Amino acid sequence: MEESNQEFLLDPKIIENYALLQDIGVLQHIDRLTKEIKEYQSLLFGAAEIFNCTTTDEIMDATVWQISDLYLPSFVAFIWKPLQNRNDVIVKGYQNYKFVDMNLNIENIIPMESFFQMNREPVAYEDLREALNKEPEAKLILKSLDKLIPELVIPILGPQGLYGIILVGAKILTGKYTASELLFLRQLMSFVSQAIQNHIHYEHSVRDVKTGLFNHGFFTTRLSEEVARVRRTGYTSSLIVSDVDKFKNFNDSYGHLAGDKVLEYIAQTIKQSVRTDDVPSRFGGEEFTILLPNTDGEIAWRVAERVRTSIAGMAVPWDPPLPQVTVSLGVTSFNKENIADPDTIIRRADEALYQSKENGRNRITVWEGGSAILNLT
Ligand code: GH3
Ligand code: MG
Ligand code: MG
Repeated sequence: MEESNQEFLLDPKIIENYALLQDIGVLQHIDRLTKEIKEYQSLLFGAAEIFNCTTTDEIMDATVWQISDLYLPSFVAFIWKPLQNRNDVIVKGYQNYKFVDMNLNIENIIPMESFFQMNREPVAYEDLREALNKEPEAKLILKSLDKLIPELVIPILGPQGLYGIILVGAKILTGKYTASELLFLRQLMSFVSQAIQNHIHYEHSVRDVKTGLFNHGFFTTRLSEEVARVRRTGYTSSLIVSDVDKFKNFNDSYGHLAGDKVLEYIAQTIKQSVRTDDVPSRFGGEEFTILLPNTDGEIAWRVAERVRTSIAGMAVPWDPPLPQVTVSLGVTSFNKENIADPDTIIRRADEALYQSKENGRNRITVWEGGSAILNLT
């Protein structure tokens, strides 16, 4: 029992009437309340920890640690849609505190959407199962879930519908969850769901919907931050801009939908060509930028060359088959010696890009200060 309560119990009048208080259940009631307060404290601390996480991975790790410390569930799995304009989902499963591949064959969560729109709270799996049994499209999902038999299914909901679900397995050691444990789990998981929803919304605010790369706003913010950092420190950073060659002709010949598909593939290719610290963005239309913090011109050129050759060799499945597309690129690096405001840095890279176009496209030009431009490809 808490210290303050213990002090209160030392009051001579309490001691005098101890048997009576015990008899009418006052002391037991105090015990129950104290336990309940402890549970709420732990819920609040847990929620604060989860809301302080800065990535969805951190949220998932923190959640798994918290609930595993309390109950050790047989597994916890997170299934969510990173982009709300697409239906594909990411699945992340944990067993024994550790990330494991759970072989969950769930490709989308659409069949669960209407159920969770009506029941916005965590549900027991039997209840979800009963409802989904009536939906023919839910067959595959149920087949997967039936192998796992989660105890509890928690929806992640937002203004755009069902973003994902969290599955919590039965306890490994000590039988079923008690009613109060289930209540605690539901409350904690509601916070987790809210925290994940916040992150999905944040991701949306910084991403381009069509390609999933960062959007123009995020890019300019990061460029300004990077310029400020380069002013303060001794290192060099670089910027690559790229523009699809003759893309208007491409659209005119093969249609806008084929053009959109190509842009998606270009975005994927760019993403795969850069490190996690780099900032690949869709600047607008068919123009992409890559900000490379702490990267000198030579390495930036190598990245640009990787992007150029990968795009030139890219196969985009389409009917009828599409011709190869190419991009032209401009690269500029900035350090303490040649630092300028962000707009000027973009203009330098643009000038280099323009030179690549002038010299025949599908090539890279590095901005070399003033009007001198070195053509490297
Ligand atoms: P250049 O090699 O000089 O860059 O030629 P270009 O035709 O690519 O240049 P221009 O800037 O004249 O045309 C850009 C074209 O990109 C126009 C537009 O049809 C196309 N475009 C821009 N955004 C999108 C998009 O989101 N989807 C599709 N399909 N096309 C786009
Ligand atoms: Mg353009
Ligand atoms: Mg173009």
